[in-house]
Amino acid sequence: MRVLYDHRPSHSGHSAYADLVLINGSIYTGDPGLPWCRALAVARGRIVARGDRSDVEHLIGAQTKVTDLGGRFAMPGLYDMHTHPDLALAPRYADDLDIGIVDPTPDQVRDAILAYAAKHPNREWIYGQYFVRYTFRQAGLVPGKDWLDQVMPDRPVALLDRMWGTMMVNSEALRRAGITATTPDPANGYLERSPASGEPTGLLIDGAYALIHAAMPPTPVPVLRAAYRDGVRYQSARGVVSTKYVHVCENRLNALQSLDHAGELTLRVEAAISWQDDIFPVRRRWELLAGERHYYRSARLNANAVKFHFDGTVEPRSSYLMTPWDGNSTWSGKLNLTPEHLADMIWDMDRQGIRVIAHCTGDAASDTFLDAVEGARRRPGGLCVRHQCAHSTILHGGNLKRFRDLGVTAEFSPVSWYPSKFVSGARSGYGAERLSRAYNIKGVLEAGGVAVIGTDWPVSPLDPWIALETMVTRANPWGESEDRFGEPIALPQAIDVMTKNGAWSMGIDHEAGTLEIGKSADIIVLDRNLFEIEPQGNIHATKVDLTFVQGQLVHDRLNDKSEAVWHGEAPQLW
Ligand SMILES: [Zn+2]
Repeated sequence: MRVLYDHRPSHSGHSAYADLVLINGSIYTGDPGLPWCRALAVARGRIVARGDRSDVEHLIGAQTKVTDLGGRFAMPGLYDMHTHPDLALAPRYADDLDIGIVDPTPDQVRDAILAYAAKHPNREWIYGQYFVRYTFRQAGLVPGKDWLDQVMPDRPVALLDRMWGTMMVNSEALRRAGITATTPDPANGYLERSPASGEPTGLLIDGAYALIHAAMPPTPVPVLRAAYRDGVRYQSARGVVSTKYVHVCENRLNALQSLDHAGELTLRVEAAISWQDDIFPVRRRWELLAGERHYYRSARLNANAVKFHFDGTVEPRSSYLMTPWDGNSTWSGKLNLTPEHLADMIWDMDRQGIRVIAHCTGDAASDTFLDAVEGARRRPGGLCVRHQCAHSTILHGGNLKRFRDLGVTAEFSPVSWYPSKFVSGARSGYGAERLSRAYNIKGVLEAGGVAVIGTDWPVSPLDPWIALETMVTRANPWGESEDRFGEPIALPQAIDVMTKNGAWSMGIDHEAGTLEIGKSADIIVLDRNLFEIEPQGNIHATKVDLTFVQGQLVHDRLNDKSEAVWHGEAPQLW
């Protein structure tokens, strides 16, 4: 078994020579003090020299590995600060239903369910993904148990929508979960009901679908391990050196630790324990948060974060907004928890050194979050942890500078910040005015705040290069639309967002994120110089030739004999 890092004690005798030297490169360091260099030397995982070849030559000993970059472009490795390989891939390894179409029509959903049921006659539950509400609307149909009962009356069926905001179930699934007209709504979601009878319609919104998950068997650890393993490998192959897996439970942490112990965790992972049971049931939550999380800690893994759902998503209109969803109603969404609960929780987590990653799509949700952080900063005993506003879909202009003032990270998810069918379909529910201020990366940066990206796979693709291109263009990378959506930022800023800002949001900016002496050697070598190409249509297609994490080669695209080459296919969501 190849171990990708070791634990030599720091007082052991060290060679005076470098372990690794890169020469003849076009190396962008991300450090304003010395933005470019041609050579780097690495010892014990850290950068020890940089400059020209003459600055590193004296560090080349008999054991030093020297890599001639042949003029290629190199830069700091990428940070994906919110993603879910487990949610994306576990259904495949568990052999759950995967419709595998971006925007399936109701007929395609029906055909997929019937085909799956025929192929799996002994499976109790038919569980899987995805349907989208707007294709039902387009077909003049209403998704829910009535539609699903016609497709599958006798076996329980539960199907998630693409944004994990809604679950559609049939009557048999409701029966097994014990859900009836008298079942109360949970605090962090609701059952859609028929107005006349109060009967559940078979659409469960946000946290309500935990009621269904509780009736189903949990995902086994080996399935989770296989899902994380492929996610990690793909991320390494795309140049990601640090990531946050947002939503974990004890089973998920055990799967990650098993990869870590096997030397297969080829990037740093910060894992966020779920505060709610809305994505999956979390056993032993309080024990994990109280200290059991430390059992998982290593150089590559920590579980010192917690994930909260403050509000919902756009399609079921459960984002919590400052003004009503539309002029004809007073509905502006709601918080999943009381503001008092949130304020006490943030203070409590802050003084334990636990980062709060708060799902906030609506402008009122992020406003409440910032208020709660502000409150925590005034109470005694806090550690000023860098908390994270996840998605930050719609921000109020008056809140932009509070990200800087409170040291809160604004995290943005790429799927909707460029024009696509998804934006004109699902996202249009926010309305024109709100969409005009959606994903305001530039606004947060100009106010002095820290913005990061989170691919939020499987809501959007895991490939971070799509995010980098579209931050710079705010245009569709594949030419599917002429429109531009939102304000672009310059390439060096976008690189900062995906490198040093990520390190800041993990609290490791003093030792990672840029290529500076003393910092971790997290380096990627690309097949193109990002500063010499037309961004649109090109950055997203970047190939990563080499990925180094802590000086260790974890991906080597061009060398078939290297152990660090991954020949697998990129995991496709659709
Ligand atoms: Zn997410």
